[in-house]
Amino acid sequence: MEYANAASHRNSNDLVRIAQAFDYVARAHTDQRRKSALKEPYVNHLAEVAFLVSQATQGADADLIVAALLHDAIEDQPERVTYERIETIFGADVAALVAEVTDDKSLLKAERKRLQVETAPNKSARAKMIKIADKTANVRSLRLSPPDWPLERKREYVNWSINVVAGCKGVNKWLEARFTEECRQFKALYPAQEPAEAVTS
Ligand code: ZN
Repeated sequence: MEYANAASHRNSNDLVRIAQAFDYVARAHTDQRRKSALKEPYVNHLAEVAFLVSQATQGADADLIVAALLHDAIEDQPERVTYERIETIFGADVAALVAEVTDDKSLLKAERKRLQVETAPNKSARAKMIKIADKTANVRSLRLSPPDWPLERKREYVNWSINVVAGCKGVNKWLEARFTEECRQFKALYPAQEPAEAVTS
């Protein structure tokens, strides 16, 4: 098959890399499920985050889409996926982006969550986009396929996400609006409770 010009050849190569990344993460996360009501295959979340960043950048940044697909791979599947393997298969740019959005699993969960808020403002613009897309997908999932969590835990997750995204502002208006809208819909579904009436005896 002949290509009309170098640009279309480059675009075709990007499409193959994105398809390769999708295949790669589907295999890497194959036995992992979401902690949600529907227990969706984990790859559903990865597809959603990749779709959000692809829309946010109108498909202009293939490495960003590949990194979005891989964003949880090192953290969740360390025996199958390493920074070095990502670098070998998908290149240094993708590996660096994935590393930027990967938590240090040797730390306690509370500390990791605190660090996500604290370090968000120092991330690159592209890493911030993956962060916002990730939180958007997770808040949406809390509404559409809620895990078996008490309401207060769901609220805490949304409030923590708002704090992480606050440190990611200024990189993509569309994505930020999507996140804000998901939080609005969550709060509409679970409005803040009225103060309990005093019980009289
Ligand atoms: Zn994620």
